Amino acid sequence: TVIDPVQLLEGMNDPQREAVVHAGSPLLIVAGAGSGKTRVLTHRIAYLLGARHVQPGEILAITFTNKAAGEMRERVESLVGPRARAMWVSTFHSACVRILRRESKLLGFTSSFSIYDSADSQRLMALVCRDLDLDPKQFPPKSFTAKISNLKNELIDEETYADQAANPMEKKLAEAYFLYQRRLREANALDFDDIIMTTVNLLQAFPAVAEHYRRRFRHILVDEYQDTNHAQYMLVRELSGGTSTSPKRTVDGDFVNPAAAQLAEIPPAELCVVGDADQSIYAFRGATIRNILQFEEDYPNATTILLEQNYRSTQTILSAANAVIERNTSRREKKLWTAGEDGEKVVGYVADDEHGEAQFIADEIDRLTDGGQARPGDVAIFYRTNAQSRVFEEVFIRVGLPYKVVGGVRFYERKEVRDVLAYLRVLSNPEDTVPLRRILNVPKRGIGDRAEAMIDALSARERISFAQALQRVDEAYGMAARSANAVRKFNELMAGLRQIVESGAGPAAVLEAVLEETGYLAELQASTDPQDETRVENLQELAAVALEYEKDPGERPDGDGEGTPPIGSLADFLERVALVADSDQIPDDEDGSGVITMMTLHTAKGLEFPVVFLTGMEDGIFPHMRALNQVKELEEERRLAYVGLTRARQRLYLTRSVLRSAWGQPSYNPASRFLEEIPEQLVDWKRKGAQVAPPSRSPLSGGSSDSYGSSQMGASASPKSGWGKSARKVTEREVVSLAVGDRVNHDSFGLGTVVAVSGVGDKAQAKVDFGAAGAKQLLLRYAPVEKL
Ligand code: ATP
Ligand code: MG
Repeated sequence: TVIDPVQLLEGMNDPQREAVVHAGSPLLIVAGAGSGKTRVLTHRIAYLLGARHVQPGEILAITFTNKAAGEMRERVESLVGPRARAMWVSTFHSACVRILRRESKLLGFTSSFSIYDSADSQRLMALVCRDLDLDPKQFPPKSFTAKISNLKNELIDEETYADQAANPMEKKLAEAYFLYQRRLREANALDFDDIIMTTVNLLQAFPAVAEHYRRRFRHILVDEYQDTNHAQYMLVRELSGGTSTSPKRTVDGDFVNPAAAQLAEIPPAELCVVGDADQSIYAFRGATIRNILQFEEDYPNATTILLEQNYRSTQTILSAANAVIERNTSRREKKLWTAGEDGEKVVGYVADDEHGEAQFIADEIDRLTDGGQARPGDVAIFYRTNAQSRVFEEVFIRVGLPYKVVGGVRFYERKEVRDVLAYLRVLSNPEDTVPLRRILNVPKRGIGDRAEAMIDALSARERISFAQALQRVDEAYGMAARSANAVRKFNELMAGLRQIVESGAGPAAVLEAVLEETGYLAELQASTDPQDETRVENLQELAAVALEYEKDPGERPDGDGEGTPPIGSLADFLERVALVADSDQIPDDEDGSGVITMMTLHTAKGLEFPVVFLTGMEDGIFPHMRALNQVKELEEERRLAYVGLTRARQRLYLTRSVLRSAWGQPSYNPASRFLEEIPEQLVDWKRKGAQVAPPSRSPLSGGSSDSYGSSQMGASASPKSGWGKSARKVTEREVVSLAVGDRVNHDSFGLGTVVAVSGVGDKAQAKVDFGAAGAKQLLLRYAPVEKL
């Protein structure tokens, strides 16, 4: 595809165009919501490729979610064609994971290291605290995990922290931090925050590695820069070489490390960051607006471009958003305007209780869709906390409105999904302790806590990993014969499953084998508990996810190449699952009219919808209770309100409820102060004074759904493959029958000759010589082989 630079710049306003063509000095684009920042970033990439003859491989673009990365890649690809693939467009995390996989040996990891998400981290920390004999009431493991996460975001490693820990509490934390990191290393694993911190350390410790990436990435672009934390800030600095602290020199002025001298000679990469200080909403995760406010100081030769024209919303919506954000102090004055029309007034609604609020929204969506003014896919419902989605779900299910919850009790956080994924993770990385301990007795197989503790003791005594100790169960003192037997059987089970993986079976086939061979599925299917039925449906959905992946693994959202596991492999599947962030679950528009999207305000960042409902506009809900008396936190809540208001393109609804049940108790909430900050003339109140009965009456009667409640509410889309409660197998696989001397073709190993056969039916195996790929023992039921 040939890019026409003139065409690329068409329809852009002057500052947008300037930002696209700017060359040389670091570039900061600060602008309000909907002013085209993300669009400028995309067009800038296309312009680099088309007009400035930059190679795609020289570009690194960082976005906030995998979904945003995928969209940007798609947009660039539509502008410049398939060569866009060599570009890295990814989140901070996926970019760092790629770098780390490539360089893992330098750091003492193998390239198949696991990534611990927050639930894994909690579990590991719980084990650590137990081993340190910490009283969970005095030293809650959860607070330790949070504190360590903050430390990592500040690039403070366990040794540095140990030096600065002063009081007894901090000393305990330092101890836990040490042990936690040691356990991670032993498990060949990194947690989410390690990923960034370790990459920064890597670049700082190994000039040759830094040199490699600095020579490679000549253009670095970052979206949503206002939400970068210190570690991410340093990462950008190290990669771009912009204002990097000069390498150490001796008193004579020579470089201490000769490699550092070479590094200093590489001119800095062109850096382009875009952001909006008014949309900084991740201070609680360590993001600091400082990064954007002080960009000019950090990069003294930087150019700043302001965008003020908004292309997203009506003037009315913008005026409302401006009026709210204006109340924040210490911000740069900037006013958004649009050349578009005033549009409809903002609609306000005060409900008696949360069911009334949900009912109003359902009725309003019906009215809009019936009148052809909007389709379900145009509508988004935002709330401050995940728990608020439940009532909307109940009402929507009752009236039959199609919806999707983004985030919340996420699919991948459900117990059964995590259990099965834990099996896959152990199969992919046998040393991975946390998932291994999770599945040890799931489903129940007679390996109790005592037995587990004995294995643990064996591993400590022999200084071997938990996985290795499991193999040497006979040396575990005092273990009951029955438990030892159960462990042996577990080992056999895992060995059998591993053989299936080694047969070259894809993720879906391995998953199927796990569900069956472990008895996990059978146990759920035998149960009469309706909850277990939902669990089966969720596993069915997981199988569909794997099957869909196996059929068409597609491309990685961040591109493939060095550092990534082979596409189609179990490791690749697990990595993609691990990196899925909240907003990745927004469904593709399938039947053309889409479904209503529900999500928290945090998840809504960067997105836009024609119709937006901002719900629960009550002091104590939004702004959040804990922010009410704290100026700084209140300002962050106000920025969150600004994010929410500016997602709307044409219609904006603000709703609140007078009465709301919290922990089963009714509470009366005053109107959100943000509502009162919006000029009255912009709002059309459909209902103002709510008629609420005196507090003595129970308000919680109506509105509950007569179905199983939560079991109906899985975010799971309709099942794609048909295996219900009765069917035992995910798919019927035909087992090829082979004889010695047969020629076969295997999906990953290629052509081979059968040299031995054994077993019958589902247990049939064949030893196949694949020449250069070696001889493999295949379990025929799962191996992707074809007889020639
Ligand atoms: P946010 O701060 O919410 O992330 P943003 O500044 O990144 O917003 P974009 O999402 O890039 O804004 O753009 C908002 C909308 O305006 C998009 O629909 C985009 O296509 C459109 N837009 C931006 N610039 C122009 C333009 N010059 N002409 C027409 N449409 C534009
Ligand atoms: Mg944007």
